[in-house]
Amino acid sequence: MAGFTNVGRQSLKRRLQAGRHDIIVEAAGLPRAGGPGFRCHHLRAQERKDLLRPFEELLQESAALHGHLCPGQILGVRLAMVGCREVGIDEPVKSKALLVYVEIDRCATDAIQAVTGCKLGKRTLKFLDYGKVAATFLNTDTGKAIRVVARDDSRDAVADYAPPGMDKKAAQDHAYKVMPEEALFTMETVRLDVPDTDRPGHPLRRVACDRCGEGINDAREVRQAGKTLCKACAFGPYYRPLGTAAELGEG
Ligand SMILES: [Zn+2]
Ligand SMILES: [Zn+2]
Repeated sequence: MAGFTNVGRQSLKRRLQAGRHDIIVEAAGLPRAGGPGFRCHHLRAQERKDLLRPFEELLQESAALHGHLCPGQILGVRLAMVGCREVGIDEPVKSKALLVYVEIDRCATDAIQAVTGCKLGKRTLKFLDYGKVAATFLNTDTGKAIRVVARDDSRDAVADYAPPGMDKKAAQDHAYKVMPEEALFTMETVRLDVPDTDRPGHPLRRVACDRCGEGINDAREVRQAGKTLCKACAFGPYYRPLGTAAELGEG
């Protein structure tokens, strides 16, 4: 892959900071927008107005939310931009139609939250503990859903996209910015049937557990031997009760 034949690094940095995505194409030696062989939807979409804000702006916000800039932020921002674009949501933070299902609780998840504005507490961000750098984007207005998966082999391609002599982390950061999205992600169209009790909005119902008495929202209760139980009472909790503060003499 061609490196930086056309553009000095300082100038590239300035133009990247200004949100110039055509320069990513140029730097990576990819076909230019409008030129023959141009296939990258992401870059073409960036040329239209009123679409997602520039990559660098989103990246700064995500690094601020996450606490540092890392390859996971770059990957996550790009993954979220791809997902939103593919389901036709141009302004995700303002959208009421976007639901995102993340499959890992690591760096990239914060980036996805920053770009999409989807949050666990708003029920617009769902966490599935699969341990995969992947997320599904659902447009609830149209029903269109796309699952985007970070490719494991993108790490091996870093050297092809970074100028020689960069240290390992800088090379990874740089490569993840300029790699064509096909090298970073695979994606598939999927169908997602979202139960009413998973949707944003007020809780649909609330019941009390017959054993511990604690309240349970939105049909998370379990019926067992004629009783209504919370999942902790039905299946065993994730914690080990040691007693109340008073029982332990700490009250
Ligand atoms: Zn991180
Ligand atoms: Zn209970």
